[in-house]
Amino acid sequence: MLRAAKLSTRTLGSSKPVFVRALSTQVVKSDFVVIGSGIAGSSAAFNLAKSGKGRVTVLEREEQHGYHSTGRSAALYAETYGSEVVRAITTGSKAEFQSEELVRLGGGVPFLKDLGLLWIARPDQLAQLHELFKATGKLVNNLQYLQNAKQVHEACSLVKTDYATAGFLEPDARDMDVNAIHSAFLRGTKLHGGEVHNGAEVVQIERTSTKNWVVHTAKGEKFEAPVLVNAAGAWADQIALLAGIRPIGLLPKRRTCINFECPAQHLSALHSMPMVFDVGEEFYFKPDAGRFLASPADETPMLPTDAQPDEFDVAFCVDRVQQATGMNIRTITNKWAGLRSFVPDKDFVLGPDDREASFVWAAGQGGFGIQTAPAAGRLVKAFACGEEVPQDLADLGVTKQALSPSRLLDRQAVSSEEVEVMVEKLMEEFASKHAEM
Ligand SMILES: Cc1cc2nc3c(=O)[nH]c(=O)nc-3n(C[C@H](O)[C@H](O)[C@H](O)COP(=O)(O)OP(=O)(O)OC[C@H]3O[C@@H](n4cnc5c(N)ncnc54)[C@H](O)[C@@H]3O)c2cc1C
Repeated sequence: MLRAAKLSTRTLGSSKPVFVRALSTQVVKSDFVVIGSGIAGSSAAFNLAKSGKGRVTVLEREEQHGYHSTGRSAALYAETYGSEVVRAITTGSKAEFQSEELVRLGGGVPFLKDLGLLWIARPDQLAQLHELFKATGKLVNNLQYLQNAKQVHEACSLVKTDYATAGFLEPDARDMDVNAIHSAFLRGTKLHGGEVHNGAEVVQIERTSTKNWVVHTAKGEKFEAPVLVNAAGAWADQIALLAGIRPIGLLPKRRTCINFECPAQHLSALHSMPMVFDVGEEFYFKPDAGRFLASPADETPMLPTDAQPDEFDVAFCVDRVQQATGMNIRTITNKWAGLRSFVPDKDFVLGPDDREASFVWAAGQGGFGIQTAPAAGRLVKAFACGEEVPQDLADLGVTKQALSPSRLLDRQAVSSEEVEVMVEKLMEEFASKHAEM
């Protein structure tokens, strides 16, 4: 660990002590403290609590669960979406999405609904389409290749015949009920004896002489555990810095979504269409409760924040969907943006830190954190308990090394001094943010 003793005395906002309210002396002890109650933290907490390996405490800054990325997704479950490892973890999540226990915890309504996914390609994107079809066909055996514009148009009558020249269909792609899935993990965590605290912003992390982690919140509460799970989404590197752990180089990227009304002449197409995804990830659109949901698939790098939609991206989205479909989009009923956070290779970072095994990463879920949540939660539980990759996931090709932070060789270049500078910068940002409030 990097200069733990020095870093351990630091507090986000320490230059403004007013933000750390009345320090209580009582320390709440557990076996695992999970930071962040989004889909990553809640699925890890659920699996840890259920395993009976010890007491679990989840700390969430916001008063509302799912306020950040988890509550802003497009809710697609697709086994053809994401890198090879991501796709394997997605496939490895399928059975659990249908598990009786989880569905009951989520309120009894199935998590996955029929949708289908149609990847489309313009003439200049054909090589990309072939590559994706070949790669994804290894795990998904019922993909349907569409070799010409007519077949694409038959799969979705909204796609113009002079736009896409080929495509392929993943018939078993699904729409997810994200809220029900997320609630199931949180409810399950509590049911298995875990504690979930909202309004608990982590502002300081220190070590005891026995190497336990002590996590301080802005309200002055203290939580102690031998194992810390970092599931802070876009803020995961900030949490690492507080703990004196080298960051993984996480880059949050903004993605925008809109809902728009369906023009009357396309209503019947809307009700029977699959989700349509440009193979170069330039845009997508899908049916969403009687309207359309669409995105320009933007990836604008940002600092961790409460992301808001940008008007340019909204206009871009409208333009791209209009070009592909010829629809005249008149009424936008909703628009939002959220952060998808990636490390450079775009794979997840799940598992113990390479220098400090009691600090467990659950970060970098990018645009795939919901569709992978059940299996990712099992993986984080396994790694936090010093176990290997569960056999069913190993059979799908998932390895510890592919997910480990140690694979991110660039991290080796981050010196202790650089970490010090980053922590200073982080504290300044925190102090100035709160000074404005
Ligand atoms: C527009 C959009 C579309 C998407 N579409 C899909 C899709 O179709 N399918 C799919 O599978 N995925 C999709 N995703 C990706 C998915 O939403 C994310 O991968 C996932 O939500 C990440 O979950 P998380 O728990 O890591 O992050 P978050 O949900 O952001 O949770 C992290 C939590 O940590 C908390 N936190 C941070 N710092 C602190 C602190 N100091 N103290 C306490 N708590 C803290 C935050 O408040 C936050 O609640 C999409 C994302 C976006 C933005």
